[in-house]
Amino acid sequence: MTQHFDYIAIGGGSGGIASANRAAMRGAKVALIEAKHMGGTCVNVGCVPKKVMWHGAQVAEAINLYAPDYGFNVEVKGFDWSKLVESREAYIGRIHKGYDSGLASNGVTVIKGFAKFVDNKTVEVNGEHYTADHILIAVGGRPSIPHIEGAEHGIDSNGFFELKEQPKRVAVIGAGYIAVELAGVLHGLGTETHLFVRKHSPLRNFDPYIVETLVDVMAAEGPTLHTESVPHKLVKEDDGSVTLHLDNGKTHNVDQVIWAIGRQPTTDAINVAAAGVEVNSDGFVKVDEFQNTTAKNVYAVGDIIENGIELTPVAVKAGRTLSERLFNKELPDDLKMDYSLVPTVVFSHPPIGTIGLTEQEAISQYGEENVKIYQSGFTAMYTAVTKHRQPCKMKLVCAGPDEKVVGLHGIGFAVDEMIQGFAVAMKMGATKADFDAVVAIHPTGSEEFVTMT
Ligand code: FAD
Ligand code: NDP
Repeated sequence: MTQHFDYIAIGGGSGGIASANRAAMRGAKVALIEAKHMGGTCVNVGCVPKKVMWHGAQVAEAINLYAPDYGFNVEVKGFDWSKLVESREAYIGRIHKGYDSGLASNGVTVIKGFAKFVDNKTVEVNGEHYTADHILIAVGGRPSIPHIEGAEHGIDSNGFFELKEQPKRVAVIGAGYIAVELAGVLHGLGTETHLFVRKHSPLRNFDPYIVETLVDVMAAEGPTLHTESVPHKLVKEDDGSVTLHLDNGKTHNVDQVIWAIGRQPTTDAINVAAAGVEVNSDGFVKVDEFQNTTAKNVYAVGDIIENGIELTPVAVKAGRTLSERLFNKELPDDLKMDYSLVPTVVFSHPPIGTIGLTEQEAISQYGEENVKIYQSGFTAMYTAVTKHRQPCKMKLVCAGPDEKVVGLHGIGFAVDEMIQGFAVAMKMGATKADFDAVVAIHPTGSEEFVTMT
């Protein structure tokens, strides 16, 4: 007999879990369908394992770069990559258990298997049909691989997390978050790492003040950055190594190639057409500001939506907001996710934090005469007493006569943990005068954000 639910969420990743739990907490009868591992990209092959590896690289840097000048005579007897992976996977196992108990205590029915639409009220999983009044698509994405000769000789970010041994020489290809983060992690852990970007720099959409600093730090400490370098062919050599043949005529030989050139949606296999859900030419689901797809009672959140922001907290908030709109009768029917001023961190070395507009975006939006820039550069104190002095750069982008803070950018030691609170202030409409009215915390890096003149 076909089981009927109030709400079915397809995809047990960041968006699907958050939405399913919230709907159940509001009294709905909910099913969550997951094809692989609960937690989706973020928990299994994204934010979580990446951050563990990043912390590992931080430990390596502390020992190798900073400990000596702090007076520690450290003898490192080796680094065991497989131990780090074992610790990471055990941690992920504990997160899985947490999800299972959370879903169970909310009364969410978990269905393991790959879901396909039959129509806009019915999905099929393992040959069984399930119906619901409302269905959420939260199936996320997968890494893109380019269509070039020998592309299969490289791995993607999923493959990176499957590595059981530390590769000696790696080429990371790409210019976004993942490329920069994985290159930084590998370099920090001692792999000879080369980052190949096809234009003049990585992270081209970030404020140049920040990116130039990242490029300077890479030049000083590594990984080796190769600009204007894009491979058109990979060749597997007899010794197992891989040679990159670049458009600029150069070649480069490494033990491992990692593709990090963006991600693509996974709607191709779920038969969205049967439900009347329109996708764009790349396969991303078209949604309105309420997460409604073009099919009645079918919704989408997270990485799968057109023009979305591919971040876990965005998927989570969109998923929860949708469930509140559908199942919380005390909240208005027009409740929707606010996609403005989303703070984000790139876990590079050093980390980057950014909220709102870059200087150039503010100038385009408000006109140059209406934009005022404040910036500050200093050496992070943690590194200042060592031979490995590292810059910290911060910038405020202010607009209009009241100098509303519309952009906040930083790179440097601990910036990753500095910006969340500033996002609250900016969401509340803080001006430069509001920032100035705050008493600084000394000595910290974050005090620079409230003392710029
Ligand atoms: P996903 O988390 O991808 O979940 C989709 C789920 O749907 C998957 O579990 C999949 O198995 C399942 N599924 C797919 N099709 C079906 C089907 N037909 N039936 C059943 N189940 C199905 N974001 C951050 O905010 N911070 C970070 O530090 C960060 N680091 C990242 C690092 C890496 C290497 C990567 C790849 C991503 C990172 N992200 C980070 C992005 C973040 O992981 C995604 O934005 C987030 O996971 C998107 O959530 P989602 O629910 O849309 O999709
Ligand atoms: P991104 O879309 O961020 O970056 C990919 C970049 O690779 C492109 O912008 C492009 O840069 C370059 N590129 C594209 N095609 C090619 C090609 N054929 N050859 C060489 N370079 C190419 O994708 P990512 O995969 O890095 O990450 C996906 C998303 O996941 C991110 O946008 C982010 O939202 C999320 N994420 C978040 C993290 C965090 O919060 N810390 C960490 C990791 C991921 P260019 O045009 O300059 O060449």
